[in-house]
Amino acid sequence: MSHCLSERSIDHVVLERGEVANSWRTERWDSLRLLTPNWQCHLPGHAYSGDDPDGFMTMPEVVEFITGYAKLVAAPVLAGTSVTSVRRADGGYVVVTDQGEWSCATVVVATGAFNLPCVPAFAQAVPPAVTLLTPMDYRNAEQLGEGGVMVVGASATGVQIAAEVRRSGRRVLLSVGEHVRGPRLYRGRDIQWWMQAAGVLDERYDEVDDIVRARRVPSMQLAGSPERATFDLNALTSLGVTLVGRLAGVDRGRAQFSGSLRNKCELADLKLGRLLDRIDEWAVVSGLDGSLPPPERFEPTAVPASPALGLDLGSGEIETIIWATGFRPDYSWLDVAVLDRKGLIRHAGGIVDSPGMYLLGSPFLRRRKSSFIDGGRVDAEDLACEVDAYLGGKVASRN
Ligand SMILES: Cc1cc2nc3c(=O)[nH]c(=O)nc-3n(C[C@H](O)[C@H](O)[C@H](O)COP(=O)(O)OP(=O)(O)OC[C@H]3O[C@@H](n4cnc5c(N)ncnc54)[C@H](O)[C@@H]3O)c2cc1C
Repeated sequence: MSHCLSERSIDHVVLERGEVANSWRTERWDSLRLLTPNWQCHLPGHAYSGDDPDGFMTMPEVVEFITGYAKLVAAPVLAGTSVTSVRRADGGYVVVTDQGEWSCATVVVATGAFNLPCVPAFAQAVPPAVTLLTPMDYRNAEQLGEGGVMVVGASATGVQIAAEVRRSGRRVLLSVGEHVRGPRLYRGRDIQWWMQAAGVLDERYDEVDDIVRARRVPSMQLAGSPERATFDLNALTSLGVTLVGRLAGVDRGRAQFSGSLRNKCELADLKLGRLLDRIDEWAVVSGLDGSLPPPERFEPTAVPASPALGLDLGSGEIETIIWATGFRPDYSWLDVAVLDRKGLIRHAGGIVDSPGMYLLGSPFLRRRKSSFIDGGRVDAEDLACEVDAYLGGKVASRN
């Protein structure tokens, strides 16, 4: 956004509580790599130019990519500056930070959508002998005790951590609710390539039937690995991970799993089939079909014949629970009445329900890929036009 504003000669500052790329430096586990391939790492006016376009960046590489970009575009970043309050004043905003106050006509909220881990309230009922971790506490399997581990949630974070912990030799139970299945490679190309080419990632927020639901869809079960491996439930089962249903509650020390595991898996298989149908149709229409390997369909997800419906958490079988149950934004500093009942900012494609305020970096903000780095790029370009028009209108009305 800073680069897009600079291109329009719009005077601005970027306030950052940590250092540039703070979330990638401080909030991710050690082995994480981007799940989006390097060729997809675009920032406004800047693309990945290394020699491994199909690879996946490690966290130090992401930090280098983003800090290098901040220098390249000379972003006016004030690091070590925490915003503690934003409120409306005199037709604009007063931004209070731990380093002083700013007055401005417009504010772009780009504080991230994944600031806090979501942990269900019933976590409190887990017996105290069981260690509870979130993906933000988890760094690597060595920090865990030797006992069994239950990973709750089977989206991108959950499947990656479950696989890593299982490979460390520990027993792993994976609690599976609604999830989105995806192969890493399809017909010889990366699934992200297909979704980009077939227009899936560019679907707009005002084109989908139910944007509220679309914004809540979990992340696809993908990981970036040098082997370009698939991380679906069948892959995890073959590693020796045990699947159970969604963790519905904890009652008197007993975990209760939903009986819906088979249904959830069938639904994910069905949706994957629909995605692949769409991709194959696009391949025909685009004339690529003949030059690629033929369409494939994957084995249905193998579900245990009678998955456990309960587990005594006091038995010592499970020593650690990792809540891979999603993340949410932290707007505790925002003193403008723009939050809905779920604590999310009300907006239309990033134009917030308060004049001169904009949102960036939120799931399906303007397009399906909005929560990816590449989505932030196009959304920033769109929203910089909105900021420009808003400021132009203010100048015109003053004149
Ligand atoms: C585990 C995980 C894996 C991911 N993998 C990928 C991937 O492979 N590819 C991909 O494209 N995307 C991935 N994402 C999504 C990724 O987070 C976004 O693409 C990207 O970080 C969005 O950038 P952002 O600048 O909007 O948000 P962030 O990177 O979260 O940056 C927000 C910044 O705001 C700062 N901040 C927050 N509050 C305040 C405050 N009050 N005052 C001052 N500063 C503040 C934070 O310190 C932070 O630096 C992943 C996300 C997670 C959680």
